[in-house]
Amino acid sequence: MIQHPGNVFVVSAPSGAGKSTLTQRLVQEVPDLSFSISFTTRKPRPGEVDGRDYFFIDEARFDAMVAGGGFVEWVQVYGHRYGTGRDWLNGVLATGRDVLLDIETTGALNLRGAIPDACMIFLLPPSAAALEQRLRGRGKDSDEQIRIRLQHARHELELYGAYDYLVMNDDLELAYRQFESIILATRARRERMAPVAQGILQGF
Ligand code: ADP
Ligand code: 5GP
Repeated sequence: MIQHPGNVFVVSAPSGAGKSTLTQRLVQEVPDLSFSISFTTRKPRPGEVDGRDYFFIDEARFDAMVAGGGFVEWVQVYGHRYGTGRDWLNGVLATGRDVLLDIETTGALNLRGAIPDACMIFLLPPSAAALEQRLRGRGKDSDEQIRIRLQHARHELELYGAYDYLVMNDDLELAYRQFESIILATRARRERMAPVAQGILQGF
């Protein structure tokens, strides 16, 4: 079990729903929020940077991390492996910063076992057709990759019931405001703020 002073936010969604668009803006605009950088055996897409978007590692190194218990959770999807590094996550949380993890549903459910008070947010596309349009419009995946991603999308959507919040990304600005509100409201929860309230009380 991971003990931590920071909040953990998990966001899952079918590929193409707009997670990257929203999470990139959140980490820029919400103070004290870090984006979790996962490890993957997938090759970088054009424009992706090692150590910023992912830690891109080979199969052997991924195997070694699995064997050494180096992942809080890991999965194999789309023919590649993805995992949340235990040391990386502990390191950021220990500084008191909140962490936002963009991980798929199976990994998210496993993560909740390790971090039961993680705030779980599911991002819904407006429709199946809109999702396909966005994947094509993004222009980063082959037709075959898009077919596989759409098939997987249905399985991911079926798991929405395991999440605390469902945010629909139709109007981007509204989705952003909802997302940001969830983060800010979670920070104000009584159990998080009780130590602060106690500190203030002691000043009287
Ligand atoms: P994900 O990270 O979930 O795979 P992206 O953030 O890459 O998805 O978004 C997929 C595509 O959809 C991108 O081209 C993005 O600009 C576009 N997009 C994201 N949100 C919206 C929205 N609310 N309306 C229209 N297009 C959007
Ligand atoms: P992509 O290849 O589009 O960057 O990511 C594919 C899927 O892997 C996305 O649904 C993304 O959320 C998920 N993913 C990325 N990193 C991790 C991780 O560390 N763990 C898990 N479980 N899923 C991840």
